[in-house]
Amino acid sequence: MRRINPGGALLLGLGLLLAGAAHTDEALDTNLYDRDGCRLAVHVSADFQPAEQADLLTWVEFIATSLAQVYGHWPLQQWQISVAPATSATAGDPIPWAQVYREHPTRVEFFTAPSASPDALQRAWTGYHELAHLLIPYRGWGDAWFSEGLASYYQNLMQARAGVITEQQMWQKLYDGFQRGLADTAFDGVPLAEVSDNMRQDGGFMRVYWSGAWYFLAADTRLRLQSGGQRNLDLALAELNRCCRDQSLSVPAIVRQLDRLNRVVLFEILYDELVVAEQVPAFGDIFASLGIDVVDGEVTLQTEGPGARLRSQIARGNGL
Ligand SMILES: [Zn+2]
Repeated sequence: MRRINPGGALLLGLGLLLAGAAHTDEALDTNLYDRDGCRLAVHVSADFQPAEQADLLTWVEFIATSLAQVYGHWPLQQWQISVAPATSATAGDPIPWAQVYREHPTRVEFFTAPSASPDALQRAWTGYHELAHLLIPYRGWGDAWFSEGLASYYQNLMQARAGVITEQQMWQKLYDGFQRGLADTAFDGVPLAEVSDNMRQDGGFMRVYWSGAWYFLAADTRLRLQSGGQRNLDLALAELNRCCRDQSLSVPAIVRQLDRLNRVVLFEILYDELVVAEQVPAFGDIFASLGIDVVDGEVTLQTEGPGARLRSQIARGNGL
C-alpha cells in the first residue's frame, strides 16, 4: 500500500504532483466467492488509478465467472489473481504478459496495459487461456503440449459461453489455430513429445499448442458422439477435479485418472497416439462429424442433424 500526500507533493513542485496524480493511493484487495464458497482473492496494484482498478475488478469477475461455468464451480477452494500494469505495453495487446504460479494457494498474475479498455480486456483471449490452465491439477512441468492444448481449446469455449464470441467465431478460431499448427512445419517428422520438451529453446510453439488443442477437441467429440451427448469433457474434468484437485499430477497420471474416473478407454490411448504424432493430426473428420463445413478457409455451421446438435452443446456448455 502506498499513500501520496498531495500537500507534500505541492511543496516539492508540479512534477511530483503530476506523478502523484497518475497513481491511486492504495491497492485494491477483495475476495470473490463462487456458489460453492470457493474463495478468489483479487489484488489490483496501487499503480492503477481508482477507475482503472474498478474496471480491472469487473474484468477479473467476468473471466472468473467464465471459468466457473466449465464445471459449475472454480477448480480450487482458494486461489488468487493479481493484476499489475505492464511496463512495456505492446501496441494493441491489452494483456502483454500473464503467468500461472502453482503455489499454495495457486496464483495467476496478469500484466495489463494501463490504458486497456474494459471491453478490450474482455475480448482478449489471454484471460480465458490462463484461467483454463487451472481446470486440471497439473504439476506444472512435463508434457507442456497437454497443458497448453487444454488452455488453447478452452479459451475459445469459455469466450463463446460467456457471449464474447459467437459459436461460428469459436469454430473459426479453432480452425485458424489448427491451420497455424499445421503451418508450423519446422519439426514435422519429430514426435510431439520431443518437440514439446524442447519448445522453450527450439520453438515449435504452434505445433505444440495446437496438437494439444486437437487432443482435447478429439476427446470431447468422442465422448459426446459415443454417449449421444450424455458425456463430455467438462464433466470428465469435473470428475478429475472432485478426486484430485489438491494433488499435483503428471500428465500420464492425469490421463489414467480421467479414464478410470469416467469409466472410459480414451484419454490414455489418445495420449499414446499423440505423443508419437509427427505433425498436428488431421481434424477434417472431427469437423465433419460435428456438422462443420470449411470452404476456402471459412467455417460454416450446419443447422440440422445430430452433429450440429452436439456441436452447439460444446459452444453452449452445461448451462450450469
Ligand atoms: Zn498457456
